[in-house]
Amino acid sequence: MSSINIDNYSYEEAIKFIGSSADCIIIADDETDRYKAIKKDGLFADYIDNEGDYIELVRKLWYHFNNSSDDITEDYHVFIPNEGRFHEKYSKRVNIVENDITHVVQMSVYPIEPNSTYLFMLDEIDNEMFVNDELTVQKVNTIQNTYLFSMYIDLVQDTTSSISVTEISDDVMQQEIKYSEWRNMIINMIWPDDQPLFLERTAPEYLKKNLAPGRTTSFDCLMMNLEGKYIWVKLIFSRSETNNEDDFRFVFMVQNIHENSIELLETMKKYEQLASRDSLTNVFNHGRMETEIRNALKDKCTKNREVSLMILDIDFFKHVNDKFGHSTGDVTLVQFTKIISDYMHDLNAVIGRWGGEEFVVVCYDTGSEKANALAEGLRRTISEESFGKIGQITCSIGVTTINSDDTFDDAFNRMDRALYNAKSSGRNCVKSV
Ligand code: GH3
Ligand code: MG
Ligand code: MG
Repeated sequence: MSSINIDNYSYEEAIKFIGSSADCIIIADDETDRYKAIKKDGLFADYIDNEGDYIELVRKLWYHFNNSSDDITEDYHVFIPNEGRFHEKYSKRVNIVENDITHVVQMSVYPIEPNSTYLFMLDEIDNEMFVNDELTVQKVNTIQNTYLFSMYIDLVQDTTSSISVTEISDDVMQQEIKYSEWRNMIINMIWPDDQPLFLERTAPEYLKKNLAPGRTTSFDCLMMNLEGKYIWVKLIFSRSETNNEDDFRFVFMVQNIHENSIELLETMKKYEQLASRDSLTNVFNHGRMETEIRNALKDKCTKNREVSLMILDIDFFKHVNDKFGHSTGDVTLVQFTKIISDYMHDLNAVIGRWGGEEFVVVCYDTGSEKANALAEGLRRTISEESFGKIGQITCSIGVTTINSDDTFDDAFNRMDRALYNAKSSGRNCVKSV
């Protein structure tokens, strides 16, 4: 128990201890988790309660964003220096936002005997100083804009120090957390799916083995930001230059790369689309369809999923080109594709252009009988459609159903043979093998 009773501690005693007065003076006892305001003028008259829980006071003064009074998410509390415990005099600038006005406050904490009792001194800094101060803060913020967090690591001593959380404070906190403990604390802030990667890449053995002196390594993952939302970040380790191969010191940084990452992911998706689609008809291309057929074979083999394949080939398409020109031929191909897509719309089917005027459809959850009925319906729909100035066209369709021991060639050759049969039976018909 403390020998100082904070209820009896007087203003005079506080002044004598500190040597000067301030707008607000508070005495707090960490052991009993209580504080009492001895003096509170100006801004602090309403902002600080007369008394209350010490941890609440610490939260109020530390656990908020640098430029607003918004609370930061609980997981970040571990990065607040000392969590209300001080071994020596501690000073810090804090921004307190009241009624949308930012007040800059100089805060000093004095430990008094015994160690769990503290005197807090809070002074609002006047306007002119504040403006100058704000300008430098803004400058720092633009430079460090994308850096959320940084710290210095020594793997030999298993320590972290000089921790800085840009959005909470511009100060570097001289706090020591064991590196091994830090990993356990921060893991909760990593998106669950990314946690194995985080554990692998932040492991001391991994860093020691893979990073030569002076080299930098990084990886991206989703991490909770100060508001509790997951964002894309880059975790960067840079090993200090050294001639001693047993010296493992690193600078670690977390960079906010969210906007760029979202843009990059969208571009990659677009690229995948471009690479897997036929540019004329916008259905899947040959390469993508080959993959689809291989995936279907796997589904049949491992899950016994019923899958049928069909190939459609337009009858006498060469005549269309010869008579109406290549561009009319192109328009016809687009319309032909749309008919297939519309027809298959509600079915679990994947459509692609195999090449020229040949199209392949992979029909999932479809046995042989259903596949033949579908093909027949599609053939009829096409034959009844009007293709503008060229009038009507027909197609021949080959159908097959995948067996569990089929190779790609087995299934494909059967489908091709069925198409050949349809062509040689006079076209505009469906055959299956
Ligand atoms: P069959 O009934 O035996 O299938 O006769 P067909 O004329 O349809 O078959 P063939 O293989 O002899 O001719 C296919 C034609 O398709 C030849 C080619 O000019 C045309 N073709 C292939 N790709 C395109 C394309 O991208 N645009 C256009 N307009 N025509 C194409
Ligand atoms: Mg053909
Ligand atoms: Mg043809």
